[in-house]
Amino acid sequence: MNETARKYVAMFRQVKIASAATVDEDGVPQSRIINVMLAEDDGMYIVTSKGKPFYKQLTDTGRIALSAMCPDCQSLKFTGKCRIADKKWVDKVFEENPGMNEVYPGDTRYILDAFHIYEGRGEWFDLLHYPISREQFAYGGDEIEKAGFEITDACISCGSCSAACPQKCITEGTPFSINPAHCLQCGACLEVCPAGAVKRLHR
Ligand code: SF4
Ligand code: SF4
Repeated sequence: MNETARKYVAMFRQVKIASAATVDEDGVPQSRIINVMLAEDDGMYIVTSKGKPFYKQLTDTGRIALSAMCPDCQSLKFTGKCRIADKKWVDKVFEENPGMNEVYPGDTRYILDAFHIYEGRGEWFDLLHYPISREQFAYGGDEIEKAGFEITDACISCGSCSAACPQKCITEGTPFSINPAHCLQCGACLEVCPAGAVKRLHR
């Protein structure tokens, strides 16, 4: 895991309370609040018990999406893959989250499995300060997602996109260029460009 990913995985653990989304067998999105129990160099760990729909959705799909809000209003999002980890990880979760013993005293903890979120990609997003900031991260072999917009060589340097940009993150040039770290991904530049030079990167 590189430094950027380590920083944001640690932030998920620091925030701890996250919304976890899965898809059920009918393809319907489901979401619930969970705790990010461990942040390790090989990924994040969560636990859930075998009887829960959440457990079934995790094992059926091997996929999870997380989102969390930091205390100073910066948000985190993540999508990745998970699998059941060895039972020793349940013990490690209880060591580092002792409050779990009140919910699952003694050996009752072993109805839980730990899920290792072993790869994925995400983004930190700060909407509180101007200009907005975002930074992407990935680990476990996943790659940073292409998102937002870029300006191609079809640009005729008319300046319309720059005038329309709410974050003023478009720099003049041939062609003009967008700074993705401060882009809202609002699409105003795409709407106003007379030359069709603004390309959407995300699906
Ligand atoms: S998508 Fe919005 S914020 Fe981003 S460069 Fe275009 S106009 Fe600016
Ligand atoms: S609006 Fe289109 S053509 Fe005009 S500067 Fe922006 S990208 Fe270039």
